Amino acid sequence: MAGKFMSRKGIVDTKKDEERTNSIQKRERLTKHPIRAGVCQCYNPNCGAWHDILTDRNIPTDDECDEILKQHHKDKKKNS
Ligand SMILES: [Zn+2]
Repeated sequence: MAGKFMSRKGIVDTKKDEERTNSIQKRERLTKHPIRAGVCQCYNPNCGAWHDILTDRNIPTDDECDEILKQHHKDKKKNS
């Protein structure tokens, strides 16, 4: 259950799961990987969101971000 319909318990569970996921991420040295929050589609307001560590994806390094941005601006110029 998502958003403003989530109960206090749902929000607390979501927060707890986020913290749990963050500590797993640190413990297993997965900080290069992004975390995705998933929200259940059920109608239980006590049902919080969960978090997945996407080990098949990497957060770009600062250098890679620069490169992605440069490429993005180049593509934009080409198309305008
Ligand atoms: Zn649910």
